[in-house]
Amino acid sequence: MPGTNLTRDEARERASVVDPSSVKYTVALDLTGGESTFGSTTTATFSATEGAETWLDLIAPAVHEVVLNGATLDPAEVYDGARVRLAGLAAENEVKVVADAAYMHTGEGLHRFVDPVDDEVYLYSQFEVPDARRVYACFEQPDLKAEVTFVVDAPSHWEVVSNSPGKRGRTNNGKRRWTFEPTPKLSTYVTAIVAGPYHVERSEHVGKEKTIPLALYCRKSLAEHLDADELFDVTSRGFAFFEDVFGLAYPFAKYDQLFVPEFNAGAMENAGAVTHHEDYVFRSRVTDAAYERRAETILHEMAHMWFGDLVTMRWWDDLWLNESFATWASVLSLTEATRWTDGWTTFAVTEKLWALRQDQLPSTHPISADIRDLEDVEVNFDGITYAKGASVLKQLVAWVGRDEFLAGVRAYFAEHAWGNTSLTDLFGHLEQTSGRDLSAWNEQWLRTAGVNTLQPVVTVDSAGAYTSVVIEQSAAPEHPTIRSHRAAIGLYDYDDDGALVRRERIELDIDGPRTEVAELRGVTQPDLLLVNDDDLTFAKVRLDDRSLATVVRSIGALDPLPRALCWTAATDMLRDAEMSASSFVELVLGGIEGETSMGVVQHVLASARAAIELYAWPANRTVLSSRWAAALRQLAGSAEAGSDHQLAFTRAWVAAAASDEHVAEIAALLDGDEELLPGLVVDTDLRWTLLQRLVVLGAAGEDAVDAELERDSTATGQRHAALARAAVPTYAAKAAAWQAVVESDELPNALLTATVRGFAHPEQRELVRPYVQPYLDAVPRLWAERTSESAQAIIVGLFPRLLADAATAATVREWLAGAELPDAARRLVVEGLADLDRALRAQERDRQAG
Ligand SMILES: [Zn+2]
Repeated sequence: MPGTNLTRDEARERASVVDPSSVKYTVALDLTGGESTFGSTTTATFSATEGAETWLDLIAPAVHEVVLNGATLDPAEVYDGARVRLAGLAAENEVKVVADAAYMHTGEGLHRFVDPVDDEVYLYSQFEVPDARRVYACFEQPDLKAEVTFVVDAPSHWEVVSNSPGKRGRTNNGKRRWTFEPTPKLSTYVTAIVAGPYHVERSEHVGKEKTIPLALYCRKSLAEHLDADELFDVTSRGFAFFEDVFGLAYPFAKYDQLFVPEFNAGAMENAGAVTHHEDYVFRSRVTDAAYERRAETILHEMAHMWFGDLVTMRWWDDLWLNESFATWASVLSLTEATRWTDGWTTFAVTEKLWALRQDQLPSTHPISADIRDLEDVEVNFDGITYAKGASVLKQLVAWVGRDEFLAGVRAYFAEHAWGNTSLTDLFGHLEQTSGRDLSAWNEQWLRTAGVNTLQPVVTVDSAGAYTSVVIEQSAAPEHPTIRSHRAAIGLYDYDDDGALVRRERIELDIDGPRTEVAELRGVTQPDLLLVNDDDLTFAKVRLDDRSLATVVRSIGALDPLPRALCWTAATDMLRDAEMSASSFVELVLGGIEGETSMGVVQHVLASARAAIELYAWPANRTVLSSRWAAALRQLAGSAEAGSDHQLAFTRAWVAAAASDEHVAEIAALLDGDEELLPGLVVDTDLRWTLLQRLVVLGAAGEDAVDAELERDSTATGQRHAALARAAVPTYAAKAAAWQAVVESDELPNALLTATVRGFAHPEQRELVRPYVQPYLDAVPRLWAERTSESAQAIIVGLFPRLLADAATAATVREWLAGAELPDAARRLVVEGLADLDRALRAQERDRQAG
């Protein structure tokens, strides 16, 4: 959308005209009207440089009235669709803007959803990055914090929730007014409004200085699945932990968590009114990995209440610090305050692999990114910002010490509460508490891109003792920085029971291209030498020959964390064409049964699936795939009845099943056969998984999808059905999905992403091949015409990644050379091409291996 961007320079300029300490908004919303727009009246007061000019941000289909300091301005003259121009400012100003704002269906601004179960309307806001302006007129930049007073008219049977506690007025003609207490100073992106006939559960947490009222909200039709006790328990544990380690009581008046439909991300840290994706209300059986992920998300958002909401980045350059801190703090609290004491194990597989992928794309960037404008930040919610940042923060903690790190964080909160900061403010405190100069660290880790590889090179004498152990450090030529790593090295041997047990741990600084580990000279060579044991640093880790052989033979004999590190190393080797897809699948089949962490199990199963679909030499694919399916079927059969492993293996088996025998078994499960996999509960979502597989294979059709939707006529059911329809193996089905996603903008975000997923099904390469050129042709138009979230979902989701052949790569490369595209859109296509090139290299490796 042209004209909606905002540059850092403009934001700086505006913050020099408007006094950041003076801004207040009263926002009156009328949610009792039609289905497409709602009334929005903003009264903003602020001090400014006299005579200067500035603007309020607002994206609204109609602006009826603008009054600046008593003078009525003509909206046609001062409003351009994105900004309300305010000229001739006084020292003290009052602006009133009356507008009709639009309900959104993309998960940005004020999203409107109709529950198909009972036709009830549910609304929620999502304002990060710049979408508060889709609801009220404001200075949409994080360093112009404001006190906001919301007044909301809503149907009388609705709940309305905002950042501050609200008072519900009397019913009048089926309507009711909610008046909220003024918020403390907040950045616009963490303000929120959630409204609808939500179901509520209440509790409280007795905190350090006060009792914090807690509430959980979800749609009425999901209420039976809301496990409030478990959610409140995690929430309370989080508050106890954070109030203690942050040294500061929870800063807001209450803490609501709202599970909302069609949410684009996992959750959002609105101050005191956190929104979560409602898939976190589990309506079907999920494994413990899902509970762990949900707890991690709850704690991540809670950490933001201090780091992000109370103390906020000045501009989006420091988004990485905001997100990385929250992720680091969430895993810390997960391991120290909840039952998921292996949280860092999951982190070592999920976050680390995400970071490694992102950091090796051509679009990688220093963690501390140069964010020139809003378009830059909108595509920057990536693996660098979240996962590499958090990994590097973990390394920083190892570097300065945990206690020193937390002491610095406490001093930082105390000094900057309710204010805005940049990185240097935090680092100043960390230098004080640790006594270490962080400028070189900052330069090496935050200002440069790319990842180092740590490769142990060992020599051994005839008696089996090391004569030398050298850690060689390298970097990709495009990003040649060699760094200082605080790291540990573990020496593991088989014990009498065949377990791999750590004999010794050495912590050291790995510095420069070669680091000799002098302590290991003369030491007996272990069965496994693990560099970066305990996962202190961020690096690609390689194994010497003997260690690799040990891992391939008996990865399951390790403890959870070192095992996770070995899974990550192997996955990275697969992606780097150093291990063939066939070998990787064998490794997984050898070790997965003994893997105890469900997060790791599911991640490794997904990696093996990608190995088969993307990284296997095409001629090897069918054999490998049926070997995989057969082995998973066996694992599902031998897993403990009703266990998480049984469910995870069953899902992975179903995703790979293709033989007539397997198709018949899937159909039998769907028909209620309880003998096939005793203990397995075929519930609503698993039914959809089974049916979708039959649809992909052509063994069930649209009528079966219709019948299933009849059984499950919920929002989630609609998503499953949309995915299934787009995955019907016919040209007509692909054409219909393409039409719905690319040629029309009517699909709400949740159905859009489901349709995209069904369209781009891995085993339907030939059906989507005709869409390579139409896809490329559509990219500029999609970027220009759709909202940021929708455009990204389509451009990333429909990229012909799965074709993974040389011809497709050439077509994309040629198109990129001639295309005129904004940087942010170009980046998405370049990343897709990089994945494709990587797949081609891995396929070549698999060809040679086979
Ligand atoms: Zn976050």
